[in-house]
Amino acid sequence: MAGSEAAWQAANAGIQVVLHEMRPNVGTFAHQTGLLGEMVCSNSFRSDDDEQNAVGLLHWEMRAANGLIMATAEKHRLPAGGALAVDRDPFAQSVTDALMAHPNISVEYGEITDLPRDGHWIIATGPLTSGDLAQSIAAQTGAEALAFFDAIAPIIYHDSIDMSKAWMQSRYDKGETEEERTAYLNCPMTKDQYEAFIDALLAADKTEFKEGETAGYFDGCLPIEVMAERGRETLRFGPMKPVGLTNPHDPDTKAYAVVQLRRDNKLGTLYNIVGFQTKMKYGAQTEVLRMIPGLENASFARLGGIHRNTFLNSPTFLDDQMRLRSQPNVRFAGQITGVEGYVESAAMGLLAGRLAVAEINGEAATPPPPTTATGALITHITGGADAKTFQPMNVNFGLFPPVEGLKAGRRGRKDRYKAYTDRAKVDWQDWLDSSAPTA
Ligand SMILES: Cc1cc2nc3c(=O)[nH]c(=O)nc-3n(C[C@H](O)[C@H](O)[C@H](O)COP(=O)(O)OP(=O)(O)OC[C@H]3O[C@@H](n4cnc5c(N)ncnc54)[C@H](O)[C@@H]3O)c2cc1C
Repeated sequence: MAGSEAAWQAANAGIQVVLHEMRPNVGTFAHQTGLLGEMVCSNSFRSDDDEQNAVGLLHWEMRAANGLIMATAEKHRLPAGGALAVDRDPFAQSVTDALMAHPNISVEYGEITDLPRDGHWIIATGPLTSGDLAQSIAAQTGAEALAFFDAIAPIIYHDSIDMSKAWMQSRYDKGETEEERTAYLNCPMTKDQYEAFIDALLAADKTEFKEGETAGYFDGCLPIEVMAERGRETLRFGPMKPVGLTNPHDPDTKAYAVVQLRRDNKLGTLYNIVGFQTKMKYGAQTEVLRMIPGLENASFARLGGIHRNTFLNSPTFLDDQMRLRSQPNVRFAGQITGVEGYVESAAMGLLAGRLAVAEINGEAATPPPPTTATGALITHITGGADAKTFQPMNVNFGLFPPVEGLKAGRRGRKDRYKAYTDRAKVDWQDWLDSSAPTA
Protein backbone atom coordinates (compact mmCIF):
# COMPACT_ATOMS: atom_id res chain seq x y z
CA MET A 1 0.00 0.00 0.00
CA ALA A 2 2.43 2.67 1.20
CA GLY A 3 5.31 1.73 -1.10
CA SER A 4 3.07 1.68 -4.16
CA GLU A 5 1.57 5.07 -3.34
CA ALA A 6 4.95 6.63 -2.48
CA ALA A 7 6.45 5.42 -5.77
CA TRP A 8 3.48 6.75 -7.73
CA GLN A 9 3.63 10.20 -6.14
CA ALA A 10 7.38 10.56 -6.65
CA ALA A 11 7.32 9.21 -10.20
CA ASN A 12 4.49 11.58 -11.17
CA ALA A 13 6.63 14.46 -9.96
CA GLY A 14 9.37 13.43 -12.38
CA ILE A 15 11.60 11.49 -10.00
CA GLN A 16 13.15 8.20 -11.15
CA VAL A 17 11.98 5.50 -8.72
CA VAL A 18 13.14 1.95 -8.12
CA LEU A 19 10.47 -0.03 -6.30
CA HIS A 20 11.83 -3.06 -4.43
CA GLU A 21 9.46 -5.90 -3.52
CA MET A 22 10.59 -9.15 -1.93
CA ARG A 23 7.53 -11.14 -2.98
CA PRO A 24 7.15 -13.55 -4.69
CA ASN A 25 10.80 -14.56 -4.02
CA VAL A 26 10.35 -14.18 -0.26
CA GLY A 27 6.82 -14.48 1.11
CA THR A 28 5.04 -13.47 4.31
CA PHE A 29 2.51 -15.55 6.23
CA ALA A 30 -0.33 -13.24 5.17
CA HIS A 31 0.35 -12.30 1.53
CA GLN A 32 -0.84 -14.76 -1.11
CA THR A 33 0.53 -13.30 -4.36
CA GLY A 34 3.50 -11.44 -5.78
CA LEU A 35 1.33 -8.45 -6.69
CA LEU A 36 1.93 -4.92 -5.46
CA GLY A 37 -0.91 -3.38 -3.43
CA GLU A 38 -2.12 -6.74 -2.11
CA MET A 39 -4.75 -6.51 0.63
CA VAL A 40 -3.82 -9.13 3.20
CA CYS A 41 -7.14 -9.53 4.97
CA SER A 42 -10.40 -7.66 4.53
CA ASN A 43 -11.18 -6.11 1.14
CA SER A 44 -12.46 -2.88 2.63
CA PHE A 45 -11.04 0.62 2.75
CA ARG A 46 -13.76 1.31 5.36
CA SER A 47 -16.13 4.29 5.30
CA ASP A 48 -16.18 6.47 2.20
CA ASP A 49 -18.13 9.23 3.99
CA ASP A 50 -15.91 12.29 3.65
CA GLU A 51 -18.20 14.50 5.76
CA GLN A 52 -18.75 12.43 8.89
CA ASN A 53 -15.89 9.97 8.99
CA ALA A 54 -12.15 10.52 9.39
CA VAL A 55 -11.14 7.61 7.17
CA GLY A 56 -13.58 8.83 4.50
CA LEU A 57 -11.88 12.20 4.75
CA LEU A 58 -8.52 10.49 4.21
CA HIS A 59 -9.99 8.96 1.02
CA TRP A 60 -10.97 12.45 -0.10
CA GLU A 61 -7.52 13.86 0.59
CA MET A 62 -5.79 11.06 -1.31
CA ARG A 63 -8.13 11.50 -4.26
CA ALA A 64 -7.40 15.23 -4.30
CA ALA A 65 -3.68 14.37 -4.40
CA ASN A 66 -4.09 12.07 -7.41
CA GLY A 67 -3.51 8.96 -5.29
CA LEU A 68 -3.06 5.67 -7.10
CA ILE A 69 -4.60 3.51 -4.36
CA MET A 70 -7.85 5.49 -4.23
CA ALA A 71 -8.21 5.82 -8.01
CA THR A 72 -7.65 2.08 -8.43
CA ALA A 73 -10.05 1.26 -5.60
CA GLU A 74 -12.72 3.34 -7.34
CA LYS A 75 -12.16 1.35 -10.54
CA HIS A 76 -12.72 -1.95 -8.74
CA ARG A 77 -15.36 -0.83 -6.28
CA LEU A 78 -17.87 -3.39 -5.00
CA PRO A 79 -21.29 -2.58 -3.54
CA ALA A 80 -20.82 -2.19 0.23
CA GLY A 81 -23.20 0.49 1.49
CA GLY A 82 -21.23 3.47 2.75
CA ALA A 83 -17.95 1.55 2.74
CA LEU A 84 -15.38 1.42 -0.03
CA ALA A 85 -14.89 -2.30 -0.66
CA VAL A 86 -12.91 -3.51 -3.66
CA ASP A 87 -12.44 -6.58 -5.77
CA ARG A 88 -9.04 -7.40 -4.30
CA ASP A 89 -7.28 -9.36 -7.06
CA PRO A 90 -8.11 -7.03 -9.97
CA PHE A 91 -7.31 -4.13 -7.63
CA ALA A 92 -3.81 -5.43 -6.88
CA GLN A 93 -3.29 -6.37 -10.54
CA SER A 94 -4.24 -2.82 -11.63
CA VAL A 95 -1.93 -1.24 -9.03
CA THR A 96 0.90 -3.48 -10.27
CA ASP A 97 0.16 -2.73 -13.94
CA ALA A 98 0.03 1.03 -13.34
CA LEU A 99 3.36 1.05 -11.54
CA MET A 100 5.07 -1.26 -14.05
CA ALA A 101 3.83 0.88 -16.94
CA HIS A 102 5.03 4.15 -15.45
CA PRO A 103 8.02 5.48 -17.41
CA ASN A 104 9.73 6.72 -14.21
CA ILE A 105 9.38 3.49 -12.21
CA SER A 106 11.33 0.27 -12.40
CA VAL A 107 10.42 -2.65 -10.17
CA GLU A 108 13.11 -4.90 -8.73
CA TYR A 109 12.09 -8.12 -7.06
CA GLY A 110 14.25 -9.09 -4.09
CA GLU A 111 14.58 -8.66 -0.35
CA ILE A 112 16.34 -5.63 1.11
CA THR A 113 18.23 -6.91 4.14
CA ASP A 114 20.03 -3.78 5.39
CA LEU A 115 19.11 -0.15 5.82
CA PRO A 116 20.70 1.48 2.76
CA ARG A 117 23.34 4.14 3.51
CA ASP A 118 23.27 6.12 0.25
CA GLY A 119 20.55 7.70 -1.83
CA HIS A 120 16.97 8.62 -0.93
CA TRP A 121 15.00 5.66 0.43
CA ILE A 122 11.50 5.12 1.66
CA ILE A 123 11.10 1.99 3.75
CA ALA A 124 7.49 0.84 3.57
CA THR A 125 7.87 -2.81 4.42
CA GLY A 126 4.78 -3.01 6.59
CA PRO A 127 3.77 -5.01 9.64
CA LEU A 128 5.43 -8.13 8.23
CA THR A 129 8.83 -6.58 7.47
CA SER A 130 11.33 -9.38 6.85
CA GLY A 131 13.53 -10.42 9.76
CA ASP A 132 16.94 -9.25 8.50
CA LEU A 133 15.71 -5.79 7.65
CA ALA A 134 13.88 -5.52 10.98
CA GLN A 135 17.13 -6.38 12.74
CA SER A 136 19.04 -3.81 10.74
CA ILE A 137 16.45 -1.14 11.63
CA ALA A 138 16.56 -2.15 15.29
CA ALA A 139 20.37 -1.94 15.26
CA GLN A 140 20.33 1.52 13.66
CA THR A 141 17.67 2.94 15.95
CA GLY A 142 19.11 1.37 19.09
CA ALA A 143 15.70 -0.11 19.81
CA GLU A 144 16.10 -3.44 21.61
CA ALA A 145 13.80 -4.85 18.99
CA LEU A 146 10.92 -3.54 16.97
CA ALA A 147 7.62 -4.48 18.55
CA PHE A 148 6.74 -7.79 17.02
CA PHE A 149 3.43 -8.08 18.75
CA ASP A 150 1.04 -5.29 18.77
CA ALA A 151 -0.77 -5.31 22.06
CA ILE A 152 -3.54 -2.84 21.56
CA ALA A 153 -5.72 -1.53 24.33
CA PRO A 154 -8.97 0.12 23.26
CA ILE A 155 -9.07 3.89 22.90
CA ILE A 156 -12.13 5.92 23.86
CA TYR A 157 -13.25 9.43 23.04
CA HIS A 158 -13.07 11.49 26.20
CA ASP A 159 -16.33 13.26 25.49
CA SER A 160 -18.21 9.95 25.60
CA ILE A 161 -17.10 9.17 29.19
CA ASP A 162 -19.56 9.85 32.01
CA MET A 163 -17.57 12.05 34.41
CA SER A 164 -20.40 11.98 36.96
CA LYS A 165 -19.16 8.44 37.68
CA ALA A 166 -15.46 8.68 36.74
CA TRP A 167 -12.81 10.96 38.24
CA MET A 168 -9.26 12.10 37.58
CA GLN A 169 -6.56 10.96 40.02
CA SER A 170 -3.18 9.22 39.91
CA ARG A 171 -2.66 6.41 42.40
CA TYR A 172 -1.63 7.82 45.80
CA ASP A 173 -1.82 11.29 44.17
CA LYS A 174 1.69 10.70 42.90
CA GLY A 175 3.30 13.48 40.90
CA GLU A 176 5.04 16.82 41.18
CA THR A 177 2.42 18.85 39.37
CA GLU A 178 -1.37 18.96 39.48
CA GLU A 179 -1.38 17.53 35.94
CA GLU A 180 0.65 14.50 37.05
CA ARG A 181 -1.45 14.02 40.18
CA THR A 182 -4.59 13.84 38.03
CA ALA A 183 -3.15 11.95 35.08
CA TYR A 184 -5.56 8.99 35.21
CA LEU A 185 -9.25 8.74 34.66
CA ASN A 186 -10.76 6.22 37.08
CA CYS A 187 -13.93 4.16 36.75
CA PRO A 188 -15.01 2.42 40.00
CA MET A 189 -16.74 -0.96 40.30
CA THR A 190 -18.70 -2.56 43.11
CA LYS A 191 -18.21 -6.27 43.88
CA ASP A 192 -21.37 -7.19 41.93
CA GLN A 193 -20.27 -5.13 38.93
CA TYR A 194 -16.82 -6.72 39.01
CA GLU A 195 -18.20 -10.27 39.18
CA ALA A 196 -20.60 -9.58 36.29
CA PHE A 197 -17.73 -8.07 34.28
CA ILE A 198 -15.53 -11.13 34.82
CA ASP A 199 -18.38 -13.45 33.80
CA ALA A 200 -18.92 -11.45 30.60
CA LEU A 201 -15.19 -11.41 29.86
CA LEU A 202 -14.90 -15.18 30.24
CA ALA A 203 -17.96 -15.78 28.06
CA ALA A 204 -17.03 -13.27 25.30
CA ASP A 205 -16.13 -14.33 21.76
CA LYS A 206 -12.38 -14.13 21.18
CA THR A 207 -10.19 -14.14 18.09
CA GLU A 208 -7.69 -16.96 17.86
CA PHE A 209 -4.09 -16.37 16.77
CA LYS A 210 -3.51 -16.70 13.06
CA GLU A 211 -0.80 -18.89 11.61
CA GLY A 212 2.55 -17.15 12.12
CA GLU A 213 1.36 -15.40 15.28
CA THR A 214 2.58 -18.15 17.55
CA ALA A 215 5.42 -16.48 19.40
CA GLY A 216 3.17 -15.85 22.40
CA TYR A 217 2.51 -12.74 24.37
CA PHE A 218 5.05 -10.23 25.58
CA ASP A 219 5.60 -10.38 29.29
CA GLY A 220 3.44 -7.80 30.97
CA CYS A 221 0.88 -7.46 28.21
CA LEU A 222 -1.42 -10.39 28.68
CA PRO A 223 -4.89 -9.89 27.25
CA ILE A 224 -7.43 -9.19 30.00
CA GLU A 225 -9.43 -12.29 29.16
CA VAL A 226 -6.30 -14.45 29.57
CA MET A 227 -5.72 -12.83 32.97
CA ALA A 228 -9.35 -13.52 33.93
CA GLU A 229 -8.94 -17.16 32.89
CA ARG A 230 -6.02 -17.45 35.31
CA GLY A 231 -8.25 -16.53 38.22
CA ARG A 232 -11.25 -14.34 38.96
CA GLU A 233 -9.17 -12.08 41.21
CA THR A 234 -6.19 -11.69 38.84
CA LEU A 235 -7.45 -8.46 37.29
CA ARG A 236 -8.23 -7.01 40.72
CA PHE A 237 -4.58 -7.49 41.60
CA GLY A 238 -3.45 -6.30 38.16
CA PRO A 239 -4.76 -3.47 35.99
CA MET A 240 -8.01 -3.16 38.00
CA LYS A 241 -6.50 -2.85 41.46
CA PRO A 242 -8.44 -0.34 43.54
CA VAL A 243 -5.60 0.91 45.75
CA GLY A 244 -4.44 4.49 46.27
CA LEU A 245 -7.63 6.04 44.91
CA THR A 246 -10.56 7.89 46.47
CA ASN A 247 -13.75 8.44 44.55
CA PRO A 248 -14.79 12.09 45.08
CA HIS A 249 -18.38 11.22 44.06
CA ASP A 250 -18.58 8.77 46.99
CA PRO A 251 -15.52 9.27 49.23
CA ASP A 252 -16.70 6.92 52.00
CA THR A 253 -17.12 3.84 49.81
CA LYS A 254 -14.04 1.91 48.78
CA ALA A 255 -14.31 0.69 45.19
CA TYR A 256 -13.94 -3.08 44.80
CA ALA A 257 -12.05 -2.63 41.53
CA VAL A 258 -11.04 0.38 39.42
CA VAL A 259 -10.48 0.59 35.68
CA GLN A 260 -7.95 3.28 34.78
CA LEU A 261 -7.70 5.21 31.54
CA ARG A 262 -4.76 7.33 30.49
CA ARG A 263 -4.57 10.22 28.09
CA ASP A 264 -3.54 9.00 24.67
CA ASN A 265 -2.86 12.29 22.92
CA LYS A 266 -1.74 15.79 23.77
CA LEU A 267 -5.17 17.24 23.04
CA GLY A 268 -6.72 15.05 25.74
CA THR A 269 -9.52 13.97 23.43
CA LEU A 270 -8.55 10.27 23.52
CA TYR A 271 -8.02 7.93 26.46
CA ASN A 272 -6.72 4.36 26.40
CA ILE A 273 -7.80 1.78 28.96
CA VAL A 274 -4.64 0.91 30.82
CA GLY A 275 -3.60 -2.73 30.63
CA PHE A 276 -6.74 -3.68 28.70
CA GLN A 277 -5.19 -5.24 25.62
CA THR A 278 -7.69 -7.78 24.44
CA LYS A 279 -8.44 -10.33 21.75
CA MET A 280 -12.18 -10.17 22.26
CA LYS A 281 -14.03 -9.85 18.96
CA TYR A 282 -15.11 -6.31 18.20
CA GLY A 283 -18.84 -6.81 18.91
CA ALA A 284 -18.16 -8.55 22.21
CA GLN A 285 -15.55 -5.97 23.12
CA THR A 286 -17.84 -2.96 22.95
CA GLU A 287 -20.54 -4.83 24.86
CA VAL A 288 -18.22 -5.96 27.67
CA LEU A 289 -16.34 -2.65 27.99
CA ARG A 290 -19.57 -0.67 28.20
CA MET A 291 -20.33 -2.59 31.42
CA ILE A 292 -17.64 -0.44 33.09
CA PRO A 293 -19.31 2.34 35.11
CA GLY A 294 -18.70 5.61 33.30
CA LEU A 295 -18.20 3.90 29.94
CA GLU A 296 -21.83 2.91 29.33
CA ASN A 297 -21.99 5.23 26.30
CA ALA A 298 -18.34 4.98 25.32
CA SER A 299 -17.44 5.71 21.70
CA PHE A 300 -14.34 3.87 20.60
CA ALA A 301 -11.67 5.55 18.49
CA ARG A 302 -9.98 2.16 18.20
CA LEU A 303 -10.78 -1.26 19.57
CA GLY A 304 -8.18 -3.51 21.16
CA GLY A 305 -6.32 -6.42 19.58
CA ILE A 306 -3.09 -8.36 19.43
CA HIS A 307 -1.39 -9.39 16.22
CA ARG A 308 2.06 -9.50 14.80
CA ASN A 309 3.10 -6.02 13.84
CA THR A 310 6.50 -4.56 13.25
CA PHE A 311 6.48 -0.86 13.90
CA LEU A 312 8.84 1.88 14.92
CA ASN A 313 8.48 4.09 17.93
CA SER A 314 8.04 6.96 15.50
CA PRO A 315 7.74 9.76 18.08
CA THR A 316 11.27 8.83 19.15
CA PHE A 317 12.91 7.84 15.88
CA LEU A 318 11.34 9.92 13.09
CA ASP A 319 11.45 13.64 12.42
CA ASP A 320 8.44 15.54 11.07
CA GLN A 321 9.62 14.77 7.55
CA MET A 322 9.28 11.02 8.29
CA ARG A 323 13.09 10.66 8.18
CA LEU A 324 15.05 8.49 10.55
CA ARG A 325 16.70 11.01 12.84
CA SER A 326 19.91 8.96 13.02
CA GLN A 327 20.07 8.33 9.26
CA PRO A 328 18.10 10.96 7.38
CA ASN A 329 18.60 9.49 3.91
CA VAL A 330 15.95 6.97 4.97
CA ARG A 331 12.28 7.81 5.32
CA PHE A 332 9.66 5.44 6.65
CA ALA A 333 6.07 5.11 5.48
CA GLY A 334 3.05 2.90 6.01
CA GLN A 335 2.16 0.68 8.87
CA ILE A 336 5.77 0.43 10.05
CA THR A 337 5.50 4.08 11.16
CA GLY A 338 2.76 3.16 13.65
CA VAL A 339 -0.37 3.88 11.71
CA GLU A 340 -2.92 1.12 11.38
CA GLY A 341 -4.89 0.05 8.31
CA TYR A 342 -4.66 0.02 4.54
CA VAL A 343 -5.89 3.57 4.09
CA GLU A 344 -3.70 5.13 6.77
CA SER A 345 -0.70 3.21 5.40
CA ALA A 346 -1.34 4.37 1.85
CA ALA A 347 -1.76 7.96 3.10
CA MET A 348 1.60 7.83 4.84
CA GLY A 349 3.10 6.52 1.57
CA LEU A 350 1.57 9.42 -0.31
CA LEU A 351 3.03 11.88 2.16
CA ALA A 352 6.48 10.26 2.27
CA GLY A 353 6.61 10.27 -1.53
CA ARG A 354 5.80 13.97 -1.67
CA LEU A 355 8.19 14.93 1.11
CA ALA A 356 10.97 12.98 -0.62
CA VAL A 357 10.28 14.80 -3.90
CA ALA A 358 10.52 18.17 -2.19
CA GLU A 359 13.82 17.24 -0.57
CA ILE A 360 15.30 15.90 -3.80
CA ASN A 361 14.20 19.09 -5.57
CA GLY A 362 15.78 21.21 -2.85
CA GLU A 363 12.43 22.70 -1.84
CA ALA A 364 11.26 23.38 1.70
CA ALA A 365 8.78 20.72 2.71
CA THR A 366 6.23 21.43 5.37
CA PRO A 367 4.05 18.53 6.47
CA PRO A 368 0.31 19.13 6.12
CA PRO A 369 -1.38 20.81 9.10
CA PRO A 370 -3.00 18.66 11.83
CA THR A 371 -6.41 19.99 10.78
CA THR A 372 -6.23 17.59 7.79
CA ALA A 373 -6.59 13.83 8.16
CA THR A 374 -3.12 13.18 6.74
CA GLY A 375 -1.67 15.96 8.88
CA ALA A 376 -3.44 14.71 12.03
CA LEU A 377 -1.87 11.28 11.53
CA ILE A 378 1.65 12.51 10.84
CA THR A 379 1.46 14.97 13.73
CA HIS A 380 0.34 12.16 16.02
CA ILE A 381 3.03 9.66 15.08
CA THR A 382 5.92 12.12 14.96
CA GLY A 383 5.12 14.16 18.02
CA GLY A 384 1.59 14.20 19.35
CA ALA A 385 1.63 10.66 20.72
CA ASP A 386 3.30 9.72 23.97
CA ALA A 387 6.48 7.82 22.98
CA LYS A 388 6.32 5.70 26.14
CA THR A 389 2.97 4.16 25.29
CA PHE A 390 3.06 4.53 21.51
CA GLN A 391 0.80 2.04 19.71
CA PRO A 392 -0.45 1.92 16.12
CA MET A 393 -3.24 4.33 15.40
CA ASN A 394 -6.19 4.53 13.04
CA VAL A 395 -7.17 7.95 11.79
CA ASN A 396 -9.98 9.43 13.92
CA PHE A 397 -11.36 12.85 14.81
CA GLY A 398 -9.80 12.69 18.27
CA LEU A 399 -6.47 13.45 16.56
CA PHE A 400 -7.77 16.74 15.16
CA PRO A 401 -7.49 20.05 16.98
CA PRO A 402 -10.98 21.13 18.06
CA VAL A 403 -13.01 23.56 15.97
CA GLU A 404 -13.76 26.38 18.38
CA GLY A 405 -17.30 27.29 19.31
CA LEU A 406 -18.98 23.98 18.57
CA LYS A 407 -21.05 22.28 21.22
CA ALA A 408 -19.78 18.97 22.61
CA GLY A 409 -21.82 15.85 23.26
CA ARG A 410 -23.69 13.37 21.16
CA ARG A 411 -26.14 15.77 19.53
CA GLY A 412 -23.41 18.16 18.46
CA ARG A 413 -21.25 15.43 16.98
CA LYS A 414 -22.64 15.58 13.45
CA ASP A 415 -22.02 19.32 13.21
CA ARG A 416 -18.59 18.91 14.73
CA TYR A 417 -17.50 16.23 12.26
CA LYS A 418 -18.83 18.29 9.37
CA ALA A 419 -16.87 21.29 10.66
CA TYR A 420 -13.72 19.13 10.92
CA THR A 421 -14.09 17.81 7.38
CA ASP A 422 -14.97 21.22 5.88
CA ARG A 423 -11.90 22.75 7.51
CA ALA A 424 -9.70 19.81 6.48
CA LYS A 425 -10.67 20.03 2.82
CA VAL A 426 -9.75 23.70 2.59
CA ASP A 427 -6.48 23.18 4.47
CA TRP A 428 -5.55 20.09 2.45
CA GLN A 429 -6.13 21.87 -0.85
CA ASP A 430 -4.03 24.81 0.39
CA TRP A 431 -1.26 22.42 1.38
CA LEU A 432 -1.36 20.65 -1.97
CA ASP A 433 -1.20 24.00 -3.79
CA SER A 434 1.63 25.32 -1.66
CA SER A 435 3.68 22.13 -1.81
CA ALA A 436 3.16 21.26 -5.48
CA PRO A 437 6.49 20.04 -6.87
CA THR A 438 8.14 22.33 -9.38
CA ALA A 439 9.85 19.52 -11.32
C1 LIG B 1 -2.61 -10.53 9.30
C2 LIG B 1 -2.94 -9.10 9.02
C3 LIG B 1 -4.24 -8.74 8.72
C4 LIG B 1 -4.56 -7.40 8.45
N1 LIG B 1 -5.84 -7.06 8.13
C5 LIG B 1 -6.14 -5.78 7.81
C6 LIG B 1 -7.46 -5.41 7.41
O1 LIG B 1 -8.33 -6.25 7.34
N2 LIG B 1 -7.71 -4.11 7.11
C7 LIG B 1 -6.74 -3.16 7.17
O2 LIG B 1 -7.03 -2.01 6.86
N3 LIG B 1 -5.49 -3.49 7.54
C8 LIG B 1 -5.16 -4.77 7.87
N4 LIG B 1 -3.90 -5.11 8.26
C9 LIG B 1 -2.93 -4.11 8.34
C10 LIG B 1 -2.31 -4.06 6.92
O3 LIG B 1 -1.22 -4.87 6.78
C11 LIG B 1 -1.82 -2.76 6.64
O4 LIG B 1 -2.86 -1.92 6.91
C12 LIG B 1 -1.31 -2.50 5.24
O5 LIG B 1 -1.22 -3.59 4.37
C13 LIG B 1 0.01 -1.99 5.52
O6 LIG B 1 0.46 -1.36 4.39
P1 LIG B 1 2.02 -1.18 4.21
O7 LIG B 1 2.21 -0.62 2.88
O8 LIG B 1 2.59 -0.50 5.37
O9 LIG B 1 2.54 -2.70 4.26
P2 LIG B 1 2.24 -3.89 3.22
O10 LIG B 1 1.00 -3.63 2.47
O11 LIG B 1 2.35 -5.13 4.01
O12 LIG B 1 3.44 -3.76 2.21
C14 LIG B 1 4.76 -4.01 2.61
C15 LIG B 1 5.48 -4.66 1.47
O13 LIG B 1 6.87 -4.76 1.76
C16 LIG B 1 7.33 -6.02 1.37
N5 LIG B 1 8.53 -6.30 2.17
C17 LIG B 1 8.61 -6.59 3.49
N6 LIG B 1 9.91 -6.70 3.87
C18 LIG B 1 10.67 -6.46 2.77
C19 LIG B 1 12.06 -6.42 2.52
N7 LIG B 1 12.95 -6.64 3.48
N8 LIG B 1 12.49 -6.17 1.25
C20 LIG B 1 11.60 -5.95 0.24
N9 LIG B 1 10.25 -5.98 0.42
C21 LIG B 1 9.80 -6.21 1.68
C22 LIG B 1 6.17 -6.96 1.61
O14 LIG B 1 6.27 -8.11 0.81
C23 LIG B 1 4.98 -6.09 1.22
O15 LIG B 1 4.66 -6.20 -0.13
C24 LIG B 1 -3.55 -6.43 8.52
C25 LIG B 1 -2.25 -6.80 8.82
C26 LIG B 1 -1.93 -8.11 9.07
C27 LIG B 1 -0.51 -8.48 9.38
